[in-house]
Amino acid sequence: MDSIEFTDPVTGSCQCCGAPTIQLARFVHRNGEPFAVYRALLAHGPHERRADLVISLGDWAEAASPSDRVTFACHLTADQHSFNVGFVEPHQTSWTSGELGRILSRDEALQHPWKQEVFNLTDRLLEFDKPLIAYLTAP
Ligand SMILES: [Zn+2]
Repeated sequence: MDSIEFTDPVTGSCQCCGAPTIQLARFVHRNGEPFAVYRALLAHGPHERRADLVISLGDWAEAASPSDRVTFACHLTADQHSFNVGFVEPHQTSWTSGELGRILSRDEALQHPWKQEVFNLTDRLLEFDKPLIAYLTAP
């Protein structure tokens, strides 16, 4: 079973307009081993209400390097009935790859064998990640 390790949100301000932002960083463990990392940027102010999310999957053992991982970039939104998850291009996320591993293009993400793991994880975080859910569902 996967478990999500939550850390305190980090507040900041948007580079384009100064509106308040919240950054979330999460570590996901599977059977006690590091399995994935995800980060979300939540921007208030004039921006469309959507979570700018990156999910890094692969080898997160201490000896591993970013080249052992790949990163899926997604935008999460909510409407009255459900949450929506869509892969986006690397230039559409405000995250950079860094230690996460290379950010896949939208096509690469859609064809990737780990795509289902990403959706399993987004299902889970949309159930348990309270600040993220609160941001998406706030009136
Ligand atoms: Zn802005």
